[in-house]
Formats: sequence, C-alpha cells, structure tokens
Amino acid sequence: MGFRLANVDGRAALVVGDGYLDLETASGGVFGPDPMAAIGRSAELSALADTLVAQPPTGTLAGAVLGAPVPRPRNCFAIGLNYQSHADESGLEVPAVPLTFTKFPSCIVGPDAAVELRSDAVDYEGELVVVIGRAGRDIEPADAWGHVAGLTIGQDISDRPAQFAASPPHFDLGKSFDTFGPMGPVLVSVDQFDHPDDLRITTSINGEVRQDATTAMMIFDVSTLVSYLSRFTTLQPGDVIFTGTPDGIGMASGRFLADGDVITTTIEGIGTMTNPCVRVSDYRKEAN
Ligand code: ZN
Repeated sequence: MGFRLANVDGRAALVVGDGYLDLETASGGVFGPDPMAAIGRSAELSALADTLVAQPPTGTLAGAVLGAPVPRPRNCFAIGLNYQSHADESGLEVPAVPLTFTKFPSCIVGPDAAVELRSDAVDYEGELVVVIGRAGRDIEPADAWGHVAGLTIGQDISDRPAQFAASPPHFDLGKSFDTFGPMGPVLVSVDQFDHPDDLRITTSINGEVRQDATTAMMIFDVSTLVSYLSRFTTLQPGDVIFTGTPDGIGMASGRFLADGDVITTTIEGIGTMTNPCVRVSDYRKEAN
C-alpha cells in the first residue's frame, strides 16, 4: 500500500527505489499524466501502486527533471509561529489559533529549482507540507488524516524587508516572490509513515545545519490545522498547507541567504531538496 509520487518533466510518476515509473504508461491509461489528477485519486492510487511497481522502471531519478509534486495547488495555506522555539527566537507570543497566511500558488517550484534572491535579507524556512487528497468541510480532528493525500517538503522562502515593509506585515507578499516555494522531491502517502506526526526535519545552508527539529514539536499538529482551515473554506484535493518552521532561521542570527548558497532540506521518510540561490535584480529599485 501507498505511493511515492513525483513530477517528472510535468508527468506523474511513481518512485520505486532509484527509478520511476511513468504513471499513465504503467497504469495502462487508468491514470493520466497530470500529477494534480493523481492527487485527487490518492486512495485509488495507493491501492493500485503495489501492483504497478513490479514493472521495469521508465527511468532513473538521477537523470530526471523533477517538478513540484503538487505543481498547481488551488490554495496554498501557510502557518506562522507553529513551533515554540521559533516563536521564542522571533520574540513573539505563540498565537491562540493557527496564524494563517497564504503563499501565492505561482511561487511553487520544483525540488531542485534555483531560488531567486531580490534583496540581501532573504530567509529560509524548512517546513512539512500537507497535501489534501479528499475534499472536506468542517472536518473533525479525528478524521483529518483521512483527508490527507500525503506529505512533502517545502521551503517557505521569505524576503524579510518585503514582509515587514508594511505594518502589520504583509506575510503573503514577502513570501510569494517567484521561486519562493520549492516543494518536493516526492509526495509520500500517509500510509508510508509509521509516525506521520513525528518526523525529523532539518535545513542546512552550504552543509551547515541551521534547523534541526521534529514535527512532533508543532504547536498545532496536522489534524488540528486541517480541521481548523476546513471550518473557513472547503478543502479540496491539491490544496497544500505549509505547516510552519522550527527555530534556526536567518533572521534570528542575521545570516541571510546569499548568491551561490545551497539550501538543503530533509524530512525523515520523504527525502531531500537541494536548492541553489541566485542573487538577481533588486526588487526595490525596480519598483521605483
Ligand atoms: Zn513559514
């Protein structure tokens, strides 16, 4: 049971070891090529995957161009201050309810994509990303995992000057520049995890570990977040939730991302994303 879903050059693919199977080909057309459509049929895919993976691989992951496993999320929710250690380093009180903002879906890029820096104070935030697989409204916490297709890794890249240019801050804008939402490398179905609420998460910059925590340290856990959001909006397959970052961000130490830096983000049971940083034109000069 279960699946590891990748986006290989825009096509849904099942990951098997170091290789992958093109989903449309392997399923004999039962599934089409669109990863979003596969996410909307995640229960069916989970049941079918075992019978497909015995086939010879379409190719190896090493030579593949991976896109985001959820390339076009309808909604991209994100949660702020969801780890006590991060609230502490930010000098902020823990919110009474999940502090929610959105990342524009247009910021989503693949797990190997370059992150474009448009100021000298751009920050990394390694996060677990929850992907909705089954629609629901007013979901009870006890039922929440049943609406989740799987988990993946995200970087909630944040331009701090843009974020705090307004007061109160406009989180959405400062966290939604093009390329500010690397996601991947694969979407792993919930049934592949022994303990989906307790996964080690690390972020390294140029090999130096800056963030090291487990998702069990979240203030509002996955069930609570899914339930909470579903009371405002009907969640749909392909909606994603960035669940917040642990401590160790650049803003706390004054060490922001620079041209040539490499961000490495790992979550237990999912894999690793590697994103190089490229300093491009400064957004503030262009805006004047
Ligand atoms: Zn974040």
